Amino acid sequence: MTFLGTGTSSGVPMIGCSCDVCRSTDSRDTRLRPSIHVNVPGQASILIDTTPDFRQQALTAGIERVDAILFTHSHADHILGLDDIRRYNWIQGGPIPCYAAPVTWDDIRRTFHYAFDGVQRMGGGIPRIDRHDIDGPFAVGPVRVVPVPLWHGDAPILGFRFGTFAYLTDCNRLDDRAWELVDGVETLVIDALRDKKHSTHFTVAEALEVIARLTPKRAYLTHMSHDLGHAATSARLPAGVDLAYDGLVLDVHVDVE
Ligand SMILES: [Zn+2]
Ligand SMILES: [Zn+2]
Ligand SMILES: [Zn+2]
Repeated sequence: MTFLGTGTSSGVPMIGCSCDVCRSTDSRDTRLRPSIHVNVPGQASILIDTTPDFRQQALTAGIERVDAILFTHSHADHILGLDDIRRYNWIQGGPIPCYAAPVTWDDIRRTFHYAFDGVQRMGGGIPRIDRHDIDGPFAVGPVRVVPVPLWHGDAPILGFRFGTFAYLTDCNRLDDRAWELVDGVETLVIDALRDKKHSTHFTVAEALEVIARLTPKRAYLTHMSHDLGHAATSARLPAGVDLAYDGLVLDVHVDVE
């Protein structure tokens, strides 16, 4: 899997900010909006979320096809790049299967109404989306995916587990059902916005508490704000826990049916 973006909704650097992290020359302090690509060679190319930076992320990571897009939730930093799947519609000659909870689809349909309203328009194309509602575990080709219920403030959202890998972005609490679903995970990616308490995101300390309870072999923090400089924050993390950064590639084990 590749981290396409590891920043919070504003990205890092933030527009108009001259703090040390926003002016950092360490490339790991440049964070696009949060997304990952899970590529199971010869089996499935799976994208989680389509950020406002999606086009640049796809170019940088060299993503040549997309077999499915999984949406965690409908916040702008996770969906606004959806129009750019038009290129994959063209390359692959059809709609792209997209998976989301019904509540997320309601927002996607409203935001990208022109892709759903059936109105014929002159000129440019529309993203062609094959809607799949998530109501339990499912498979993308042979790759098994387990949705993990999370709380993002008072909004229910989804994390995803593939084999021994789980991606839990945008959350400040795991649902009671989630603990069992992520039990035994060896590689955990989890939200850690900053150190200061936040109403919808884990702090670094809170993320470390979840990691301590789940005891994965390795854990990576994501969705970071400019409060967390890469080098300084990394230096104070316990063994086996690291900050993710854009472009970081991990080998993970997925379940293939
Ligand atoms: Zn977000
Ligand atoms: Zn800043
Ligand atoms: Zn969010």
